[in-house]
Amino acid sequence: MPIPAAPVAPAPHPSLPVDPVALTRALIRCPSVTPADAGALDVLTAALAPLGFVCHRVPLQAPETVAVDNLYARLGTGAPYFCFAGHTDVVAPGDLRAWTADPFQGDILGEGPEARLVGRGAVDMKGAIAAFVAAVSALLVRDGPPRGSIGLLITGDEEGCSINGTRALLPWLAERGERPDVCLVGEPTNPERLGEAMKIGRRGSLNGRLVVEGVQGHAAYPHLADNPLPRLVRMLDSLIDCLLDEGTAHFPPSTLTLTSIDAGNAATNVIPAAASAAFNIRFNPLHTAESLEAWLRRRFDSVGGAYRLDLTLSGEAFLTEPGPFSALVAAAVARVTGLQPALTTTGGTSDARFLKDLCPVVEFGLVGRTMHKVDEAVAVADLSHLTDIYLTLLGDYFAGNGS
Ligand SMILES: [Zn+2]
Repeated sequence: MPIPAAPVAPAPHPSLPVDPVALTRALIRCPSVTPADAGALDVLTAALAPLGFVCHRVPLQAPETVAVDNLYARLGTGAPYFCFAGHTDVVAPGDLRAWTADPFQGDILGEGPEARLVGRGAVDMKGAIAAFVAAVSALLVRDGPPRGSIGLLITGDEEGCSINGTRALLPWLAERGERPDVCLVGEPTNPERLGEAMKIGRRGSLNGRLVVEGVQGHAAYPHLADNPLPRLVRMLDSLIDCLLDEGTAHFPPSTLTLTSIDAGNAATNVIPAAASAAFNIRFNPLHTAESLEAWLRRRFDSVGGAYRLDLTLSGEAFLTEPGPFSALVAAAVARVTGLQPALTTTGGTSDARFLKDLCPVVEFGLVGRTMHKVDEAVAVADLSHLTDIYLTLLGDYFAGNGS
């Protein structure tokens, strides 16, 4: 009697693609306000595992921070390796009474082309994650396993301090020898209409706090005190008149914005011992945190006197020079939407600032108009169009057009 062969797991070949609307709703029903996960990564794992993804839950916790859960999933091990990055955490909903629908129910309001799915994270960015999973499943149904591999790097710490998320996952990936060839970040990139814009870089962001020290005293006897306020005002004046640069081909001019001036002084007859100011610099790749610090100190030193300068870098500026990958993304967007997306670098920072050290990074996601707002919502039609865009992109990438 022949010995039966050991069972071999069949290569995953789903017959039905994942529904991006149902998956978005399931994710929205997990109230994953940073740093809570609230089951969001379980929902995602349950969608990815049947497609053949090997899923790793990676909890990370730097000292003096709250632990955060992250998910790394990969389908296949071969090259080329296409990685999608995103986050399942969301910002708090704010005043619940201001919402038209429960922010954590995923209700669909309106009908036909007007239908929109309301909920915290609908566009930033549970909808895009669901669209990507749906696109991968559609690719598997259509073409079978790709000639290469697909990964998802999903963090629960993007909207918070971002310490235990993508930044901390990168050394973990490197240790395992995992290195994507290209990375697509699914942050909302379109201001008003799906297809208008993609991002190929981001400005850097540097927060500064300047404290000028003096000697407290009576306002009637200024010669017996050392008033820090005139020096603070001169130091700040030397900043606001200065043009940092005139912008580059892909970036607007860098900006410095004063956000606070404070002496903590309620008395009218007291010269304060110290006064402080806070500012934020959004800068293009003509600068780094280091060059900006030198620039600031030159100005403050020329005014003179004792001061303290504390700088906190949120992220350096970066640009993925337009190339084969950005062209592939733009072509997929154009084919599905009929729009030629602008290559932009606007907005705040994103986790692309960490991923850019690995490989070319492009961001393309939903329409961001309602992100972080009351009644955050995604057009149901946009979810299916974004799924089509991601499917087109994956199909073209593995056909060898953008690796
Ligand atoms: Zn986001």
